[in-house]
Amino acid sequence: MSIEYSEKVKDHFRNPRNVGTIKDADATGRVGNPVCGDMMEIQLKVEDNIIKDIKFKTFGCASAIATSSMVTEIAMGKTLEEALEITREDVADELGGLPPVKMHCSNLAADALHAAIKDYKEKQEKGIAKLGENEYEVAVIGGGAAGLATAAMSSYVGLKTVIFDGGQWGGLLNKLCPDKLIENYPGLTDKMTTRELTQSLMDDASGQDTEMVNEYVNDIEIDDDFKILTTDSGTYKARMLVLASGSSPSKSDIAGVEKFASNDGGVYYLTTDPSKLTDKRVLVYGRGYNAMSTAGCIGGIAASITLVTDEASFMVPEREMDKVKCIEGLKMLTSTTLIEVQGGTKVEKAVLEDQTEGEKLEIVLDAVVLATEMVPNIGLIEKLGVEMDESGFVKTDKYQRTNLDGVYAIGNVASEIDLLVVAEAQGTIVAHDAYRRLRGK
Ligand SMILES: Cc1cc2nc3c(=O)[nH]c(=O)nc-3n(C[C@H](O)[C@H](O)[C@H](O)COP(=O)(O)OP(=O)(O)OC[C@H]3O[C@@H](n4cnc5c(N)ncnc54)[C@H](O)[C@@H]3O)c2cc1C
Repeated sequence: MSIEYSEKVKDHFRNPRNVGTIKDADATGRVGNPVCGDMMEIQLKVEDNIIKDIKFKTFGCASAIATSSMVTEIAMGKTLEEALEITREDVADELGGLPPVKMHCSNLAADALHAAIKDYKEKQEKGIAKLGENEYEVAVIGGGAAGLATAAMSSYVGLKTVIFDGGQWGGLLNKLCPDKLIENYPGLTDKMTTRELTQSLMDDASGQDTEMVNEYVNDIEIDDDFKILTTDSGTYKARMLVLASGSSPSKSDIAGVEKFASNDGGVYYLTTDPSKLTDKRVLVYGRGYNAMSTAGCIGGIAASITLVTDEASFMVPEREMDKVKCIEGLKMLTSTTLIEVQGGTKVEKAVLEDQTEGEKLEIVLDAVVLATEMVPNIGLIEKLGVEMDESGFVKTDKYQRTNLDGVYAIGNVASEIDLLVVAEAQGTIVAHDAYRRLRGK
């Protein structure tokens, strides 16, 4: 038995209107008929309660496609209330009728439209639908390990997310040690370099539709609905803000340091470009893991390295020590204080004092790298009244929430536990907490 279709049905089947998907759709409605196997999806863009754009994707027979196409034509430009009144019969009438056998089986387009409107209204009630251009559910400041992990996970759970970094994606470690093998990341048995880990985190975030903005955030304000972020090129708004701005070396008052640091004279703080140290005789001064890792990162680049700490030991695991000990041209001094850096326009020597003997010694040099105390980058949110802990880190609860509603802090800005895996874990906690709060789960 052949089925007789009207000319209009044939036309909409052969030339369907409004096929496809809407980027940043405000709502989606899906219906299916398991008997016929027809599946329909309708997406809406709504402005001021009016359907400004509507698109469909349908898997099914000629009637299913024609009714989908027709319902988009009828609904376009209508208010949501008017669109809710469109019935299956209206669609069939506009098409010049449908064969009786198709009337109940393949005429689901009005149902898909109603489902999309229901989805829109539900989202609106939860306050997440009407996000305009440059408006987000989550904004992340800082594209180091902490920030990138947050962005990837926040987008993964479906939150509209933007991340900013005006420096180097991958943060502190990727700037200083791009070729360092990450060896203390549980489960990563196939070791990656910092550069590879950064790329992988960036691919993850962008693959999940995070918007990545290569700019510094210069200012933040908070109003009732949004955190408002200003960059050189514009303004962005977000319901939730994640501060992942990391930490920076504190300024040193050692004699001569400021003179040579301020004019590229050969004194560098931790966050330097390692290529500046190529074939130089370098003194690395600092404590613990940062000092040891810094020496490790410039091993093979610098002509020689003198690694100095004012503490009795570097207090790092033996295996970290072993990696550094084998660097050619490396000398280590403990319980030794850097007293002064001397030279003309460039660094020429360092004056050190052995604390046990009280003896002074001088070392001829081309550069000094300071891996001393790190301080959290809190300039942006200090003025908003965020609370710090006794060590100067942003104070958070177990969900990484600060005392400011909807503002989180993670990674080195919030914790002295200086590990990539911890920074990333904190980002993951934030993404799930933000999801629960924004979606009311
Ligand atoms: C020498 C060295 C070696 C290390 N080696 C290891 C290791 O092997 N394994 C390990 O687990 N950990 C290691 N760490 C620790 C690791 O680097 C940190 O845990 C990690 O960098 C913390 O990440 P973060 O995202 O909190 O901060 P960061 O990496 O500092 O990233 C912060 C980012 O925020 C950006 N930013 C700041 N302010 C703004 C703003 N206003 N607008 C936009 N962007 C902004 C910065 O440009 C930066 O990219 C090492 C650290 C050092 C110093």
